[in-house]
Amino acid sequence: MTAEHSSDNEIYRQHLPEKKRIVVKVGSSSLLHSQTQRLDYHRIDRLAGELSDLKNAGKDVILVSSGAAAAGREALGLSSDVYRAEIGMNIKQACAAVGQARLIQIYQKFFSEYNQTCAQVLMTKNTVANPSSRENLQNTMEELLRLGVIPIVNENDSVAVNEFIVGDNDNLSAMVASVTHADLLILLSDVEGLFTDDPRKNPHASFIECVPHLDDTFLRMGKKSTGSFAGTGGMDTKLHAARIATASGCDMVICTTARGMGIIRDVATGKNVGTLFVACPDANFRLDDYIRQL
Ligand code: GLU
Repeated sequence: MTAEHSSDNEIYRQHLPEKKRIVVKVGSSSLLHSQTQRLDYHRIDRLAGELSDLKNAGKDVILVSSGAAAAGREALGLSSDVYRAEIGMNIKQACAAVGQARLIQIYQKFFSEYNQTCAQVLMTKNTVANPSSRENLQNTMEELLRLGVIPIVNENDSVAVNEFIVGDNDNLSAMVASVTHADLLILLSDVEGLFTDDPRKNPHASFIECVPHLDDTFLRMGKKSTGSFAGTGGMDTKLHAARIATASGCDMVICTTARGMGIIRDVATGKNVGTLFVACPDANFRLDDYIRQL
């Protein structure tokens, strides 16, 4: 797959610098120190710096950030072990409420150092499933971007109820990309991208640079678990996100922040990093129907 599509990959990547509206999703694992599961301020600062640069380069930038539950856990002094043992809905939602406020405070601080204004937008699955709230979301986002603001989106974890939870920010960010008609979605993760099989279990798994058309062969490569404690999205959710994004006409790249937040610039300037899923607009794709079955 890599060799066969390598020239296509180069051609598709050449178009990435032209993208105007970019959604960047950052997972909890990219915001935390892996040893302690505590917030990594240096990384959050670098993330704000990279996004501010994209903004200054004339892009519309939307950040979808996880990390509320982790920040809340840290603020409340709950160790990851205790948190894991007490993983009831109430404590999770309480942590998210505390942590979301803290997370936004930290983003505000760093973004203001780069002379940017950011905003908090919290949503649930219902926000997208319901036509009038979806339109409200779309209008608000459009207005924020027109005003030059960087919206920071998360699921409204502290009030979301089971049947309406998206649960992972991979799908949430793809919904945001779809609703805002973004043309590039970057999923920052602790994985390099898509492999033919789980590389932690199968040493022969090979890396896929480009998915020109997301069909069942690729969808079957999704794995249910990341193996990481911090986040909830595995490759499976990333492939669902790819389906939403590409069918909505948005390119998507999965890449890792293991070597730093500079990867955002690498993707946006067309470097061959991560896995690129090429937009394939599908007139029959209905976002509200698709998310109901997630
Ligand atoms: N919304 C969750 C949080 O902020 C994260 C969901 C995810 O890990 O994708 O903690």
